[in-house]
Amino acid sequence: MTRDIKKLSSDIFDVLVIGGGVHGATIAYHTATSGYRTAIIEKNDFCGATSANSLKILHGGLRYLQHLNIKRMRHSITARREMMHLAPYLVEPLPCMMPLYGKGLRGKKVMQGALFLNDCISWDRNHDLPAGLHIPKGHIVSKKKCLEVIPDLETENLHGASVWYDVLAVNTERVVLEYVLQSVNHGALAANYVEATGIEKGADELYHVTVLDKLSQQKHLIKTRFIVNAAGPWLEDCLHVHQESVKKQKWALALNVVSRKKIFADFAVALEGQRKYEDKDALIRRGKRLYFFVPWRGHTMIGTNYEESSMSPDCLQVKREMIQDMVDEINAIYPPAQLKYEDISFFHAGLLPMRGKSEESNIQLEKSSTFFEHKESNFSRVLSVKGVKYTTAPHIAHEIVCFLKKQYPPLLSKQRQKESSSHAGQYNANESALQGMLEKKYGQRALQILQFLRAEQDDDIWIDKDAQLLKAEVNYLISEEMVCTLSDIIFRRTGLGTADRPERKLLVNLSDFMGKILGWDEARKEEEREEVLHRYSPLVYKEA
Ligand SMILES: Cc1cc2nc3c(=O)[nH]c(=O)nc-3n(C[C@H](O)[C@H](O)[C@H](O)COP(=O)(O)OP(=O)(O)OC[C@H]3O[C@@H](n4cnc5c(N)ncnc54)[C@H](O)[C@@H]3O)c2cc1C
Repeated sequence: MTRDIKKLSSDIFDVLVIGGGVHGATIAYHTATSGYRTAIIEKNDFCGATSANSLKILHGGLRYLQHLNIKRMRHSITARREMMHLAPYLVEPLPCMMPLYGKGLRGKKVMQGALFLNDCISWDRNHDLPAGLHIPKGHIVSKKKCLEVIPDLETENLHGASVWYDVLAVNTERVVLEYVLQSVNHGALAANYVEATGIEKGADELYHVTVLDKLSQQKHLIKTRFIVNAAGPWLEDCLHVHQESVKKQKWALALNVVSRKKIFADFAVALEGQRKYEDKDALIRRGKRLYFFVPWRGHTMIGTNYEESSMSPDCLQVKREMIQDMVDEINAIYPPAQLKYEDISFFHAGLLPMRGKSEESNIQLEKSSTFFEHKESNFSRVLSVKGVKYTTAPHIAHEIVCFLKKQYPPLLSKQRQKESSSHAGQYNANESALQGMLEKKYGQRALQILQFLRAEQDDDIWIDKDAQLLKAEVNYLISEEMVCTLSDIIFRRTGLGTADRPERKLLVNLSDFMGKILGWDEARKEEEREEVLHRYSPLVYKEA
């Protein structure tokens, strides 16, 4: 995948997708595979904003049974399956457990019925998936089993627990990247660090979108028939297409924390929070928000807290008090966690669209992701996406293609996937020790890394052996996956910094190595390292 700005500004596109989060990437993939000449631009790096900050659960939609919203469940199930197909190496079934207290609507019998219905509605959830990714049926377990998984839980009125399976996207950033890479494989053009800044309709009836290449600081024009604004929380700022067209959207800051402490072993555990929460649409209301404790990368991700926010998405700030508040809430929910501020190694935060009428303590997010076409004549053929769930992005992408097909059938025949240019063949005896590590991170793309490994002149193949990062990986990432900064590698291509702060030694070795390829001087290398370290700024680390 090459960053070809010249081609971006000389070709004419059917669809220009603005925003390389999960919605933009899935839309680009679906339009490219349907035969539309597609371009996707992202003003920073792919999956650098909200989509990198989710709790990483690809939902099957069990919770939507509370709303009896079968349609939404089906959207989740089919969208999740598509993601699992596309990036099987990045996902795994996630056993989830929720303790059951009391009787009636919240008791064992009703939950058993709900799990049965969930399994029936998701009857095709494993269709065409490899056996290792099959999602088992849900069931009820005894109080004893529940206490084995969640020790020292409050036992008064505890009858057992429900167990169901969702899916964990271990590296959400690479799932988005997979969509971008596959859209390019199907003929799309993609570029990161390209920001859409202006829009005009030309005499040729095409949109002329002004873009800024943030690496060269040069302006260019992209010509396109349709525009999809998938700018996430920049929805209203993007191209100013919303000037007078819609009511000002309200946003909620959603926050997860990542704890170094492994709180529960193998299950994601759902526990009720302390604060009041009324899900206005639910037929079965719990009265409290559920918090999930998700085992991930040897840590525990815990979320999600919400508060109304008027912060600009360009300078989202998570303050120490917000993290402390979350730590206090977690200790109140599950006192045996005994979590301290210093246990928090990272946090995930992003802005999500809120419903108009929410009270401070009872934030209601928009229920489903949607898209709409702008009605004003100067913005016809501009679609905007309002996304609330990572999981259902492929469903929105599919709906957008259906919409486009009614207005403008694709002129290209369905784009055939280009043959991958690199067939490094099999791993030899020396390389086979690396096979498992590389395939876990890159799936089939690991074979391309082998080619870089074989061209390696140096006997020392590692950038950092403790971090399991090869020089060949970095060469591959720069050459084939559009890496431009140290942060791109640390956060979005390898995930090395997404659960905890990386060691300084890794940052120095990596920035030195990248600097040689990308021509960075010492000052630039220091800037790159500072940019990475800034991400951890309100947190406390013990210096090695
Ligand atoms: C804490 C938290 C937990 C969550 N947990 C889950 C979960 O477990 N499961 C789930 O399904 N969902 C979850 N979500 C929701 C999900 O993450 C979001 O709904 C989804 O990621 C939004 O994706 P997006 O593509 O719309 O936005 P984004 O990911 O924000 O992408 C928009 C992109 O557009 C780019 N952009 C903006 N303006 C321009 C411009 N002018 N030119 C070029 N590019 C531009 C931005 O840089 C950005 O990268 C969670 C969200 C949060 C914050």
